Amino acid sequence: MTKTSYDIVIIGAGSVGNPAALFLAQRGLKVLVLDQHAGPGQGQNKAAIGGVRATHSDPAKISLALNSLQHFTTFQDTYGYDIGWKKGGYCFPAYDDTIEQTLKSLLQTQHSYGLEIDYYDADFIRQIVPGINEENLRGGTYSPGDGQVSPLMYADACWKVAQREGAEYHFNETVKAISLDRDRVTGVVTDRGSYTTGMVINAAGAAARQIGLLTDLNIPVQPDSHEAGISVPVKPFLDPLVVDLRPGADGRTSNFYFGQNHEGQIIFCYTPRKLFVGENIQSSSEFLPIISRRLIDLIPALQNLMVRRVWRGLYPMTPDGVMIVDEVQSLSGMYLAVGMCGQGFMLGPGVAECLANLVIEGEPTIDRDIFSDLSFSRDFSAHTETLK
Ligand SMILES: Cc1cc2nc3c(=O)[nH]c(=O)nc-3n(C[C@H](O)[C@H](O)[C@H](O)COP(=O)(O)OP(=O)(O)OC[C@H]3O[C@@H](n4cnc5c(N)ncnc54)[C@H](O)[C@@H]3O)c2cc1C
Repeated sequence: MTKTSYDIVIIGAGSVGNPAALFLAQRGLKVLVLDQHAGPGQGQNKAAIGGVRATHSDPAKISLALNSLQHFTTFQDTYGYDIGWKKGGYCFPAYDDTIEQTLKSLLQTQHSYGLEIDYYDADFIRQIVPGINEENLRGGTYSPGDGQVSPLMYADACWKVAQREGAEYHFNETVKAISLDRDRVTGVVTDRGSYTTGMVINAAGAAARQIGLLTDLNIPVQPDSHEAGISVPVKPFLDPLVVDLRPGADGRTSNFYFGQNHEGQIIFCYTPRKLFVGENIQSSSEFLPIISRRLIDLIPALQNLMVRRVWRGLYPMTPDGVMIVDEVQSLSGMYLAVGMCGQGFMLGPGVAECLANLVIEGEPTIDRDIFSDLSFSRDFSAHTETLK
């Protein structure tokens, strides 16, 4: 059994824990990252399709996503690693008045945060999404500064840079307990060792609640599962990541989204109308037929696309769909960066940088008023979803 001392221990080398290690090590802390998997980003990080946008509607998400975007877009120049960044923007086409009005109503908030996004007519959308079904197409929004990153390439590069900055990673090591001295964190116990530390970050993704329960914290994070797939590479034709907000005629899907990545592969995903709550990540037989129909209905030329593989992963959900980023008031030294929902990859670096600032300077990187929207103690009771 090893026993070593660290300034801070991060539970999870995923979308949030991995960049958190980088930012904290850069600022001089002795950092240990623990992950039960064999390498970085092997939890839900690798399930993400890599969509990265700042164009959200919630002020806290917009602010953190802008910081993430800055990190992703400058990563290669700053650290020398290709992370598969493709600046192709995001496009939300509108085929009915309700969706058109919803998209337009968000623009005021988005513009007030300086986001580059506008509503365009159908001709413009036809140009940026070649081959899009023109029947009833009314127009849509386009945000050219958004894009895509490879979650696998980013996890690997971030891990390498974080180590270069001094962070230590232990893989194949599962956290079993958190040691306390009354209301203070004093250490972490795993299946392979124990470590002393005054600070712990819970960045355990879908397992955030279980980690919380080790110290009697009831963290309202419950996973639900989503499926995705990727094609063989095809000739580049599609710049933006496209989000079709319409519910599917199939009766099974709400929105669906897809894009062409830096290698020419079409990568796609849908949101099931009835959510699959739980941790089952076995691929279903219905995903591919349903998503194929939706893709072909939207862009008929995709009918001959060859799919390489499909997979299923988890969204670590909170009841209100907003992540929890906070210092736990009742337990000194315990920090939470959890409940990243379906946007943990794109928000990961922004959340990680914010948390690093909170740990080191006692202040978040974003305005306190909007940061409080991410508080652990906020009121979730208005949301009907209940944790089992
Ligand atoms: C199909 C699909 C598509 C998606 N597409 C996108 C997208 O385009 N853009 C986007 O932003 N997001 C997307 N997401 C969501 C994104 O994948 C998640 O929000 C994000 O990965 C969550 O990050 P995390 O750091 O909280 O969790 P993770 O990345 O899962 O990291 C948590 C880590 O904690 C470790 N861990 C847990 N418990 C323990 C323990 N006891 N001991 C040691 N280690 C432990 C796990 O092994 C894991 O590596 C998608 C998700 C799915 C399923």
